[in-house]
Amino acid sequence: MNKFIFVSGGVCSSLGKGVAASSIGALLEGRGLNVRMVKCDPYINVDAGTQSPYQHGEVYVTDDGAQTDLDLGNYARFTRGRLSQANSITTGQVYEAVIRKEREGRYDGRCVQVIPHITNEIKSRIMAVAKESEDTDVVIVEIGGTVGDIESIPFLEAARQMIHENGKTNALSVHLTLITEVGGGELKTKPTQHSVKAMQEMGIQPDLLICRAPVMLDEATCRKIALFTNVDPDAVFTSPNIDTTIYKVPIVFFDQKLDEVILRKMGVESRHADIRPWYSVMERFAARKGKVRIGVVGKYMELHDAYKSLYEALFHAGLECGVEVELVKIDSSALKETDAGAVLGRDAPNGGVDGVLVPCGFGQRGITGMVKAAAWARLNKVPYFGICLGMHIMVIEWARNVLNWSDADSTEFNPDSKHPVMGLLEEQADVQNYGGTMRLGASESVLQEGTHIFAAYGRKQIWERHRHRYEFSNQYRNEITASGLKIAALTPDNNLVESVEWPDHPWGVGVQFQPEFQSKPTAASPLFRDFIAAVRKNK
Ligand code: GLN
Repeated sequence: MNKFIFVSGGVCSSLGKGVAASSIGALLEGRGLNVRMVKCDPYINVDAGTQSPYQHGEVYVTDDGAQTDLDLGNYARFTRGRLSQANSITTGQVYEAVIRKEREGRYDGRCVQVIPHITNEIKSRIMAVAKESEDTDVVIVEIGGTVGDIESIPFLEAARQMIHENGKTNALSVHLTLITEVGGGELKTKPTQHSVKAMQEMGIQPDLLICRAPVMLDEATCRKIALFTNVDPDAVFTSPNIDTTIYKVPIVFFDQKLDEVILRKMGVESRHADIRPWYSVMERFAARKGKVRIGVVGKYMELHDAYKSLYEALFHAGLECGVEVELVKIDSSALKETDAGAVLGRDAPNGGVDGVLVPCGFGQRGITGMVKAAAWARLNKVPYFGICLGMHIMVIEWARNVLNWSDADSTEFNPDSKHPVMGLLEEQADVQNYGGTMRLGASESVLQEGTHIFAAYGRKQIWERHRHRYEFSNQYRNEITASGLKIAALTPDNNLVESVEWPDHPWGVGVQFQPEFQSKPTAASPLFRDFIAAVRKNK
């Protein structure tokens, strides 16, 4: 029989529910259990793909091309279980499926309602993950939003039913709340009490509480919370603010015996705990020497979550290279009117950068600044990493400044360019709908020997994930390569350019895919690792 853990949140959002759920997953994996993670998102969008990064943060892409919530990125970095479309459930998907079935006449003339039809659809999707492979022990279901939100009610109701149907030892509720500090540092538990009451009104008695707090809660406070909430005193945990890295959270929970309490409540025999990977991350974190400054020149710089996986991948690369990676976030629009050197160079007010990274992005705004940043990195022999849009920028910059095609552009930004060096993928020409219609998910690239990318992966065939509509225009392949820009990777049929590299440059690599999605703290993406290694060497 599968076990289920429902992770909900209360008081307010952004308490780190995704990291808490992922850390529980990591600890249970450390106990030898097979864990699968599911995210329920109460929004009506079918997926995250059509939402602005400012609204929603990054869109995390799975191998099968699902455009999901960024929490799936957390799951991927903390746990090992497979992630696909099935692991991301939204209200939009649920209603779309139920309405389709209703139109097909599959409800036998019944009135279609939130209970049982919507809740059954949610439950069957969670069960589908549980049944996907035979050896799944535990499914951890994170319910997005905050208890009390209108939107999350059907998901909490589905959780209540599953707890009732499976029994307490097979289905647990873990509730994350906030302990606030007022006045002279006094800790307040009242919002937590109210939050648990809201859960109880939904018919769910939390089994474990994780209290996000400025400091570790003492025993008396935990006992007080337990008394007011019907939770066992030893099942009240603290998730304190951490000033090192989020990868310490599994250790912080382990030290409080959180996994032991879960095993006991689920009636699973205690097994040896192996949390060495997390200690090793913390050891490598502490052992880092020196610092490199990476200028991330992009579009959505105000919101850290907009490039979440990217920043994490840079951090992982720093762990692997033994160096601290300092992020210098530069809104590319700021480069439009100035000389790139004035913002990126040694004499810049911010102290300048040691490497430049242009990440993914959509639309015209900020493109000029990115092209300037690329030109600066190329000419000053500063390591440069272009990811998706960042590769497009490399090709445009090369065409404009080396081939002197001053109007060279992507048709995404200038449909009338006489030199459209980046153009719409053939299969995209007639696409009308926005949702889920890009080139999405993992596909194979064949690497050319003697290139930086080949050196990074150490093999010819790789699988990385894509999310784009535009590609290198093959009509210019000969002229561009003849002028020196290297094509470093292609699709197996040689049809699509997957990577380009600058000649005579310490490390200038652009890739059409987004390798940050596969980077882990325990195994950095090879390209991020080699980028940071090149930056350190070049410094
Ligand atoms: N906007 C570009 C495209 O659609 C790049 C997308 C990206 O950077 N992921 O092709």
